[in-house]
Amino acid sequence: METVLSGIRPTGNLHLGNYFGAVQNFIKMQESYNCFFFIADWHSLTTHPTPQDLHNNVTQILAEYLACGIDPEKATLYVQSEVPEIAELYLLLNMNAYVGELERTTTFKDKVRAQPENVNAGLLTYPVLQTADIIIHKATKVPVGKDQEQNVEIARKYARRFNQMYNVDCFPEPMPFNFGENLVKIPGLDGSGKMGKSEGNGIFLYEDAESIRKKVMRAVTDAGPQAPNSEVSEPIQNLFTIMKSVSQPDTLQYFTEAYANCTIRYGDLKKQLAEDIIAFTTPFKQKIEDIKANKKYLHDVVQLGTHKARESASKTLQEVRSVIGFRQW
Ligand code: AMP
Repeated sequence: METVLSGIRPTGNLHLGNYFGAVQNFIKMQESYNCFFFIADWHSLTTHPTPQDLHNNVTQILAEYLACGIDPEKATLYVQSEVPEIAELYLLLNMNAYVGELERTTTFKDKVRAQPENVNAGLLTYPVLQTADIIIHKATKVPVGKDQEQNVEIARKYARRFNQMYNVDCFPEPMPFNFGENLVKIPGLDGSGKMGKSEGNGIFLYEDAESIRKKVMRAVTDAGPQAPNSEVSEPIQNLFTIMKSVSQPDTLQYFTEAYANCTIRYGDLKKQLAEDIIAFTTPFKQKIEDIKANKKYLHDVVQLGTHKARESASKTLQEVRSVIGFRQW
């Protein structure tokens, strides 16, 4: 069975884009792959969270993934910082990672632009830690969006470099994994582009009904269809795209027809969409709250994930140590 690995950044709550674009696929993947999903709390230190925020963010995102249906028995769901083997592999890989090539990665250059006051060494070696995350379990498939493909390419390069340097076949080369035929892209409600954390336009699974209503009612629209069967503008198409994900098919059909015959009222469309998003997210919100309140369950989930992840990681690390030339004393 092939091994799939995906990291989860513990920054911010899950929004509809994350759910339909990633988490929903994870739930399916765990049925047919050997899945490792981890909360990347070491990675999150590059932006210097406070200790309280760090812990709360990890707890929140863990609860959110569990509420969505990640099954800790089927998949290995773990917290990165609980698995010290990853840090050791990161250290070893750093010896064969060159500063010049790391400085040229797009994600590093973007970060230097975004936070010039905090260009720390962790940011520079972020792709090395990502490589360690992936190859410590000998994962061959990494579900990533387009923006992350370069980092999987770097992981392939470091895996290959290690194999060549020691003339071994220790690490398989990981590949970007497009699960499902068409990747869903959930748009924002601000007229264009995608829903995203950095775009600040998310509608969250954990959000209050009132706040969801406000966001949807503020969504950008246009002057309305000018003639029957006219082309749908981007902001309106965005509302329909979200509706397609959360509403009943007959609701979508009703508003699509109303648009085509020019009887649509955007106020009605938004009201319906808001209520459908709320109906969709409310059960998740409830589950997230229940899980967060159940400290014993969270503790057990983390213990189980740590055990499974360390079992896999320590096997690889033993092999790596021996290949490099460390011997047992
Ligand atoms: P992020 O934490 O923003 O990097 O998002 C994590 C993952 O969620 C991404 O790699 C995508 O697979 C997915 N995702 C984020 N935003 C969207 C979106 N608007 N539409 C579809 N998928 C998304």
